[in-house]
Amino acid sequence: MGKIVKVSGPLIVADGMGESKMFDVVRVGKQRLIGEIIELRGELASIEVYEETSGIGPGDEVFDTGEPLSVELAPGLIESIYDGIQRPLDKLRDKGGDRISRGVEAAPLDHDKKWDFVPVSKPGEKVVAGDELGYVMENELVKHKILLPVGLDGTVKEIYKGKFTIVEPVAVIETAKGDVKVPMLRKAAVRKGRPYREKLAPFSPMITGQRVIDTFFPIARGGVAAVPGPFGSGKTVVQHQLAKWADADIIVYVGCGERGNEMTDVLNEFPELTDPKTGEPLMKRTVLIANTSDMPVAAREASIYTGITIAEYFRDMGYNVAIMADSTSRWAEALREMSGRLEEMPGEEGYPAYLSARLAEFYERAGIVKVLGSHDVTGSVTAIGAVSPPGGDLSEPVSQATLRIVKVFWGLSASLAYKRHFPAIDWLQSYSLYADRLSAWFDQNIGEEWNKMCSDAMRILQEEAELNEIVRLVGMDALGGKDRITMDTAKSIREDYLHQNAFHETDTYTSTSKQMKMLGLILDFDRLARQALQKNVDAEDIIALPIKEKIGRSKYIPEDRAESFNMISEEMERQFAELIG
Ligand code: ADP
Ligand code: MG
Repeated sequence: MGKIVKVSGPLIVADGMGESKMFDVVRVGKQRLIGEIIELRGELASIEVYEETSGIGPGDEVFDTGEPLSVELAPGLIESIYDGIQRPLDKLRDKGGDRISRGVEAAPLDHDKKWDFVPVSKPGEKVVAGDELGYVMENELVKHKILLPVGLDGTVKEIYKGKFTIVEPVAVIETAKGDVKVPMLRKAAVRKGRPYREKLAPFSPMITGQRVIDTFFPIARGGVAAVPGPFGSGKTVVQHQLAKWADADIIVYVGCGERGNEMTDVLNEFPELTDPKTGEPLMKRTVLIANTSDMPVAAREASIYTGITIAEYFRDMGYNVAIMADSTSRWAEALREMSGRLEEMPGEEGYPAYLSARLAEFYERAGIVKVLGSHDVTGSVTAIGAVSPPGGDLSEPVSQATLRIVKVFWGLSASLAYKRHFPAIDWLQSYSLYADRLSAWFDQNIGEEWNKMCSDAMRILQEEAELNEIVRLVGMDALGGKDRITMDTAKSIREDYLHQNAFHETDTYTSTSKQMKMLGLILDFDRLARQALQKNVDAEDIIALPIKEKIGRSKYIPEDRAESFNMISEEMERQFAELIG
């Protein structure tokens, strides 16, 4: 037990802590506030306190729990809403009113609720860590697998079927050191990645239903992406769209230092939305972690570790998990604030020198892996971080450090957002280093033409950028017929295809097959237009064809009305035939 000698906001220093270890969780003062040791010097421990420290003062006692900052992992996680250190926000509210009162103990998971455990292993079976003992259907969507914990292997001696709480044993494993009763509940330290067998190179995309992403800048399952952009450019909307529509089994959404009302949006919206594939509410695959700007800054620092540990836990069951963090800049500010209070030597713009290392540690926990266990099972964690550089200037340290790590860059542009072109992902600046690796997958699963269509469309956009210079100097009239068509097709790609309204019920999500049909119409028009030019048709007459209007509205064709695309196609051919005469 130690005694406080100094309090500085969320940082306290306690004496008499010589027995403690780095990263031990401690309880502070009469309120028993939760904290973590982040620096040890002899008897003095610096402690990051995850709650308001007002009323705490020198002389107050500090107890070491001897355990690292950990999360509880078991059925009940799905649909939960936690703060940065996995305190259940809904239960805290029930106990302490609307503002979270301090030192409140509330277990992250319900320890009394009984779940239907269905055994998969059989008595006599040899099992190693990571093998599936059985499962609980947490809801209609999530089969929550109960795996043999890390550090155990042996023979199943007993395994039960029926209703159990997460703390009651569901199996007994005979090991070299004797029999071990295994409940469903696991505890895991958050600051260290969970073990796996082998990391694989990403090979398949995580389809998002967002056209600009899937078509031009796809992210791989197990990949890492950043969404940087100035205030109001649409970072949060991109993150929300991914949480809603990304083709993942489990979503972990970390609202990190951003406005509280954005999390409220998530809470209000998600239960209303249904998964296009299963028809089930999207909340039924989602875990939310909220440490918004009005909540203590230290817990914000912990929130991304809490989030990714939960993501890894589901990965280990063989699932594809996606984690979004909005925003990593606010997380880095929390890191900076703690570093400042520790009086560490500041690096660039006051951020600690270990900023890049910490960011890399987070993103490195993403990936597609062969999980532990005796069967060949892969699981993935895909990580997407929003970055909010002050003034949108990417030369600042958090953006720079992030860009060195991530492989996908969806750069949001203030000028596109200003023109209300959303998502404001700048197609000339953004990139995906997975695009080449994924082209084989698109070839086999979407269609052989797909990769060529994407590169044709991108080439037209790049040509537009070059032609824009000329147009600026001498006007559109100076362009020849071919260039005029290029400009028109580019406009169509931008406005009819890339522009996607997140708040329109049909437009919000586009399957890859519909993406191919939509882009197909635009590129077919371009091809027919060039043929018509050769037959001496005037470019302006081509551009004025009434079919353009229908191509523009094709984004609103519902997913189950694919035949409408054929009708537009046929009409387009007819109109061109008439024009050529
Ligand atoms: P940021 O998080 O970068 O500050 P937001 O994600 O909150 O910005 O977006 C700001 C506003 O831009 C939104 O409230 C919305 O009106 C608009 N917006 C952004 N993306 C889209 C989109 N895909 N569709 C329609 N509107 C969008
Ligand atoms: Mg935002």
